Amino acid sequence: MKADKSKHPCFNVEAKGKYGRVHLPVAPKCNIQCKYCNRKYDCINESRPGVTSTVLSPEQALEYVEKIKDKADYISTVGIAGPGDPFANAEETMKSLELIHERYPDLIFCLSTNGLGLYPYIEKIAELGVTHVTITINAIDPEIGAKVYSWVRFKKRNLRGVEAAKALLEEQLKCVKKLKEVGLTVKINSIIIPGVNEEHIPEVAKKMSEMGADIMNCIPLLVTEDTDFAHLENPSEEMISIVRDSAEEHLPMMKHCQRCRADAVGLLGCDDKELTCELTKVSMSKEWIKEDRPYVAVATYEGLLVNQHLGEAGSFQIFGEKDGKFNTLEKRLAPPKGEGDDRWEKLSEILSDCSVLLVSGVGPHPLEYFKKTPIEVVKTAGLIEDSLKSIYSGKPIKNVSSGDISACKMGCGGNAAGGCC
Ligand code: SF4
Ligand code: SF4
Repeated sequence: MKADKSKHPCFNVEAKGKYGRVHLPVAPKCNIQCKYCNRKYDCINESRPGVTSTVLSPEQALEYVEKIKDKADYISTVGIAGPGDPFANAEETMKSLELIHERYPDLIFCLSTNGLGLYPYIEKIAELGVTHVTITINAIDPEIGAKVYSWVRFKKRNLRGVEAAKALLEEQLKCVKKLKEVGLTVKINSIIIPGVNEEHIPEVAKKMSEMGADIMNCIPLLVTEDTDFAHLENPSEEMISIVRDSAEEHLPMMKHCQRCRADAVGLLGCDDKELTCELTKVSMSKEWIKEDRPYVAVATYEGLLVNQHLGEAGSFQIFGEKDGKFNTLEKRLAPPKGEGDDRWEKLSEILSDCSVLLVSGVGPHPLEYFKKTPIEVVKTAGLIEDSLKSIYSGKPIKNVSSGDISACKMGCGGNAAGGCC
């Protein structure tokens, strides 16, 4: 079954009051820094300021969509629009699309991105049911782009100035071309930044029209504190209408679109509070223990506290649960140190009946390695019993390091101070 694109509430004025969208906040990190964005707030690509209430894992995103579809059949569209960028979190974005498309092939999928990192995924997202993509392009002249972006993280390098803007623009242009080749609807967002790009935006519209983009949204800057553009003024109504009218000579304008939170749900401009509660409920629950992996492994010296680093642990205590009580089953020796990935492969075999591995510290490499296995490595501290209570009752684990959201995949509000970027 294919999605009916005419039910997209943002791209079809007639669908706006009938059909709604749900945004999945699965993408906390960003790969660029726009000078108007304070990532304590939602992505300005599609948002109004306001901290997203939570970040979901892909599995939680599926559970959330299941609940939404049960309660509100009028939701026709699933969007991913932050709170960072979908392709700075490509793994989570793609996994969410896969899980949800498999379950609901008739839902419309819509992504909003700055375009960096999108290119390698374009064919795959089309296969997974994405029909609409928004790319925010604020300038097609790198000299102007250099005034908009503080930095761009590209091919493992942090770029600045004109070099950064040029790299971003080249990726964006490649993406627009390819997105049209695979038949997707492409919207261009440009933020109207007074004194920076208001006279340049019609040129962006002209270039995008030549490249086959379908529609444009010129969004007025919303001055946000603690940003490089905090000293600017929001564009006047007159400036907004001059920019939109000039850009409209090249591309149709989307004018009814509202700024939405990265976790918006409901009709456009009218979020549904009951559905928003579902997001909170889902984010607070987690199925840690898989049926075929009933145990938890812990890096501990004495069996009371989680107090050993993964790399240092010579053994792991294995815990299970029966009738609400936790039992130590046995101690398992760790594989010898210094064997690279072989060591982690052997450890994942040793812990083949465990769903979770609790440690007091873990390096980035083993953390990445274990992400590809069914074992979830969680960096935490404190009493083992407290963590076990949370795990076996499907709740968030307390004392999880705020700098290690990838380990817990929960509890990050998209705030850069929490280590998302
Ligand atoms: Fe903020 Fe990144 Fe979105 Fe720019 S692309 S507005 S920096 S989240
Ligand atoms: Fe797509 Fe933006 Fe509409 Fe969300 S608000 S559904 S990302 S066009």
